[in-house]
Amino acid sequence: MRKGYVPVQPQGRASGQPAPAETNTESNTAETGAAAAVAQPPFPDADLMYIVDLLPPDEQLRYQEVREFLQSRIRAASIDYWNREEFPFGLLAELGKYGLGGLQTDGTSKLFKGLMYVEVARADVSLSALVGIHNELIVGMIDELGSEEQKARWLPGLTAFTQLGAFALTEPDHGSDIAGGLETTARLDGGEWVLNGAKRWIGAGTIADFALVWARDVADQHIKGFIVETDRAGYTATKIANKIGLRIMQNADIVLDEVRIPAANLLPGATDFSKANELLRDSRAWVGWQGAGIQLAAFDVARAYSLQRRQFGKELARFQLIQQQLAEILGNATASLALMAQLARIQEDGKLEMVQAAMAKSTTTRLARASVAMGRSLMGGNGISSDYEMGKLFGDAEILYTYEGSYEINSLIVARAVTGKSAFV
Ligand SMILES: Cc1cc2nc3c(=O)[nH]c(=O)nc-3n(C[C@H](O)[C@H](O)[C@H](O)COP(=O)(O)OP(=O)(O)OC[C@H]3O[C@@H](n4cnc5c(N)ncnc54)[C@H](O)[C@@H]3O)c2cc1C
Repeated sequence: MRKGYVPVQPQGRASGQPAPAETNTESNTAETGAAAAVAQPPFPDADLMYIVDLLPPDEQLRYQEVREFLQSRIRAASIDYWNREEFPFGLLAELGKYGLGGLQTDGTSKLFKGLMYVEVARADVSLSALVGIHNELIVGMIDELGSEEQKARWLPGLTAFTQLGAFALTEPDHGSDIAGGLETTARLDGGEWVLNGAKRWIGAGTIADFALVWARDVADQHIKGFIVETDRAGYTATKIANKIGLRIMQNADIVLDEVRIPAANLLPGATDFSKANELLRDSRAWVGWQGAGIQLAAFDVARAYSLQRRQFGKELARFQLIQQQLAEILGNATASLALMAQLARIQEDGKLEMVQAAMAKSTTTRLARASVAMGRSLMGGNGISSDYEMGKLFGDAEILYTYEGSYEINSLIVARAVTGKSAFV
């Protein structure tokens, strides 16, 4: 582990056991020993409002099991991958074994799915982006809008996490205004669709088996969804390097140059962009869960550090200003989690609309930005280095603030709903 920093691994209430030793990362026997010697703080999992207790007993058990795996196996190991901007294929396979590729279709509750997003984000935000996009926008779209043939072809591999899809909507010249401005075209030619255009920022674009590409049908001008296998002639994906956050996620610039796909690759339920809206609303809510998860991670890291780092002859945790910051980070995190738990309830009742999803996304990510900034300063110089985790969270929070509709656009959606006035243009 990194010099001078011995993380206190948060533990589930059910186990109360010391954290398993880290694997696949730098380790040092003396420091591992020191970690074991650190007393477990009260409320080790930081769930002060007992949100996890809202799950039925079987889901609580599964939650604890997955959480312990994420904390022991993913959290520390992800740091080096993040630093190197490298994708951890081995860790993906392990996420698959814990069922995280099939959350969308396995019949679990909305709260359980949301808490899984929280816990993956608490371990690594990039992998939580992968898990969220995969479930909400890839598995969800094919399951809801795909043909029987498409479901049979793709869902088994996707839900096992042995196959990946990429969600390709944003373009170089159209982000916030994509719904009106989308320029990628599709035309039917001799029983095949031919796609032309460019996409930007597409997560997993360089490693996925297919991209779910949104293109405008030149015949009727409707935006439609197409499955484009990434080995088709004319498909090229180039990794976007040097990102300040989400560095494990392989985002790509994609060019589609006369890419021909069978007519059957059109999603029959996605022949008009409005059909995808329900799923886009739910995926916006998923980022709200990420906003809660990253703040719990910031709290875990800040608390552990403040209990170990000594200045003026005592632990940072004994200083009032440090205590105030810890309380504020945890307050932000808990407010975000409670908001999301209520969102899960209305989602379960079929009452979730875009306004609530937009409010949840914009609010938890705004709080997340504030929380990681506080955590960063609480750790002094070491808060700057990604090796101490907080620097990694600091960069990742910026992405949550901007993707799935920027903070500003989501705020405009909320204010439009409550004033009846649009301020988009
Ligand atoms: C790391 C990362 C991963 C991503 N992953 C994917 C992915 O997998 N698939 C995908 O399709 N897309 C993805 N995106 C794209 C993402 O959804 C867009 O970046 C986002 O919607 C913002 O679009 P933009 O970057 O083009 O910004 P722009 O739309 O150019 O906006 C720039 C700024 O102007 C503001 N703005 C724009 N219009 C208005 C307005 N009317 N009023 C007030 N302010 C306004 C915005 O809030 C923003 O602050 C990803 C982005 C990032 C950074």
